[in-house]
Amino acid sequence: MRFARLFATSLLAGVAGGATAADTCAGKFAIDAAELDWSEEQGFRERFAAAAKKVCEWWGPSWTRGFEIGVDRLRGPSMALVPAWRGSRGSMIFRAPTVRRSASAIVHEITHVLAPNANRFLAEGLGVYAQEALGGQPAYPNFARDLHREAAKLAGNADIAALERYATPTRLRSDALDGREAYIVAGSFVRYLIETYGMERFRELYALTPLVVRARDPGDPARWRTVYGKPLAALAEGWRSALGKR
Ligand SMILES: [Zn+2]
Repeated sequence: MRFARLFATSLLAGVAGGATAADTCAGKFAIDAAELDWSEEQGFRERFAAAAKKVCEWWGPSWTRGFEIGVDRLRGPSMALVPAWRGSRGSMIFRAPTVRRSASAIVHEITHVLAPNANRFLAEGLGVYAQEALGGQPAYPNFARDLHREAAKLAGNADIAALERYATPTRLRSDALDGREAYIVAGSFVRYLIETYGMERFRELYALTPLVVRARDPGDPARWRTVYGKPLAALAEGWRSALGKR
C-alpha cells in the first residue's frame, strides 16, 4: 500500500510537469529503507535516480510502472531479475551493507527491470555491460575494472555454448567458473557482440528470448546463426581472439 500511494503521487507530479517517456520510466520509484539512516537513504535515492535516468535513455522507456525498492540488512547480491521471473517486475532488493559502501549494482539491476530476459547469460551479460558502459559506480562483478581485461584471464575456462544454455532463474556459474567469473565472461561477451555487430543486432537476438513468468527457456541455439549469420561457436572464437589481442 505504501508503494502504491507513493507511485500515485510521483506519477501525478510527472504528468503535471509535462514529463517525457524517459522521465516517466525513471521518475517513479519508492524505497523502503528502514535499515538506512536519513543521509544514507538520501544518497541512495540520488544515485538510484541518476542511474534510472541513464538506463531509461539508453535502453528506451520499456518499463514505466515504477520501481519498488527494498533495502534489507543482509549481505549478498542485489536482485531484480529473479523477482521479475516470479511475476514482480519492478521489485528490487538491495543490501544495506553494500549500499553504505556505495557499491550497489544499481545500473545493472535497473537494466534487469527494463530488459529482463529468459536467457540468463544474456540477461546478466547485458546488466554487467550496462554497469560498465553507462558509468555505474564500481560494483560486482568487476568493480570498475575493464571487463575485457578481466575476461581475458578467464576465457580459457569459459564454455560460451554451455553458459548460453542457462535459463532464468538458474544461477549462472559452472564447474570451471564461479558466479563472479561467469558474470564477467557474460558481460565481456555481450560487450563484444554490441561493439562488434551493433546494438540493433543484439536487440534482435535478445528479443528472441523474452522473459515469461515462471517459464524456463534459454532459446534455440540456432537463433545465433539466424541473427548474426554465423554460429555461436564462431562468435565465441571471435570474442576469444579479440580478448587475446588486448
Ligand atoms: Zn543480475
